[in-house]
Amino acid sequence: MDCYDCHTAGRTATALAVCHHCGAGLCADHARALPDVVRHLSGTGSAAVSAPARRIACTTCAPAEALG
Ligand SMILES: [Zn+2]
Ligand SMILES: [Zn+2]
Repeated sequence: MDCYDCHTAGRTATALAVCHHCGAGLCADHARALPDVVRHLSGTGSAAVSAPARRIACTTCAPAEALG
């Protein structure tokens, strides 16, 4: 699979990751790794685990994903 963002710019780059939101293939230049805080219910409510998970997003979806 090739990078979708590179393809729209008329270039070809091998995709290394896939956007969590839109499913586009992404090269290293276009992939954005966002922390994805995993919450789980404990006795008194939700608690964040110490280490966040990872979520890959494209340059289009990353700003929206970061807000969510
Ligand atoms: Zn790219
Ligand atoms: Zn995306």
